[in-house]
Amino acid sequence: MDDGDALKKRFAEICPKVRFDEPLARYTTWRIGGTADVLIEPEDIHQLQAALSVAREHGLPVFTFGRGSNVLVADNGVRGLTIHFGDDFACLTFAGDRMTAQAGRSIVSAANQAIRHGLSGLEFATLIPGSVGGAVAMNAGAHGGEIKDVLTTATVMTPDLEVQTLTAEELQFGYRHSTVRERGYVVLEAAFLLKSGDIQEMQERVRAWSRKRQQTQPLSLPNCGSVFRNPPGDHAARLIEASGLKGLRIGNAAVSDLHANFIVNLGQARATDVQMLIEQVRQVVAERFGVTLIPEVRVVGEGATRG
Ligand SMILES: Cc1cc2nc3c(=O)[nH]c(=O)nc-3n(C[C@H](O)[C@H](O)[C@H](O)COP(=O)(O)OP(=O)(O)OC[C@H]3O[C@@H](n4cnc5c(N)ncnc54)[C@H](O)[C@@H]3O)c2cc1C
Repeated sequence: MDDGDALKKRFAEICPKVRFDEPLARYTTWRIGGTADVLIEPEDIHQLQAALSVAREHGLPVFTFGRGSNVLVADNGVRGLTIHFGDDFACLTFAGDRMTAQAGRSIVSAANQAIRHGLSGLEFATLIPGSVGGAVAMNAGAHGGEIKDVLTTATVMTPDLEVQTLTAEELQFGYRHSTVRERGYVVLEAAFLLKSGDIQEMQERVRAWSRKRQQTQPLSLPNCGSVFRNPPGDHAARLIEASGLKGLRIGNAAVSDLHANFIVNLGQARATDVQMLIEQVRQVVAERFGVTLIPEVRVVGEGATRG
């Protein structure tokens, strides 16, 4: 048995839900990407801790997946340990106006349950197809709301394998940013403080946003939402459209005709198609407007130029 096999055996002993050379495209909304060397779906914190400990012992990189709605996985895949939270980390509880959700829970489902409980504050998240962990890591936001407005604490596992509960202040939320990634935290759960609201009124608001998204976003093709952050005081989509880039295609990836800040997978697109398109868009917009667009999407894996 070589070292690789011995390592695989250790991961398999720790975590029954382990897969090797697992294709990651199916874990992403873009449906793009190579394979993960080792992908675990921990059933509890102990399995997670033990797997992270092995990764640390062997100097393996660690990547935590949510619902893959904001990542571009490189064609060559992801080396080291990939963590994916499934149904074992999807618990949702309510106590008065407080809601606690585990990292693997869909934020859409958590936000819809909050509405059903007559609790307001997370309606904006009903249309964001990520996980609770991903929403915290990204400080996801829409329609004037952001995670930071309603989150009280997040419980994380630190790279030193400690479980810590951090306040919103400690997570230093900013525009689509928190300290989660740079500190190497794995988000385990998040607690939210909501306020009572009128169920019908909240549902009507969500329906109106949903109708608008159906009309303005290319939701019938695999995508990852907005590719670029909005530069201060402007919109990435406006700059890309004004640069004449709608419809620009490389391989099977194209700038959407409907929404210029979306790149769609027309079928079997490769990560390199998307990366080349991203670079071309940045270059043309920079030449035309002097604005350097910064990707919101996180590029992960081998050969990735941006993490
Ligand atoms: C159609 C569409 C519409 C969208 N609309 C919006 C929108 O309106 N507003 C918005 O903000 N975003 C939007 N997005 C982008 C995306 O849904 C959000 O960024 C979302 O929060 C990402 O969550 P995820 O679970 O999919 O994370 P992933 O894409 O899996 O990961 C994103 C980042 O979060 C990290 N991460 C995920 N889970 C954890 C965890 N448990 N612990 C530590 N780190 C973790 C990953 O390592 C990665 O760095 C949209 C995407 C799509 C496809």
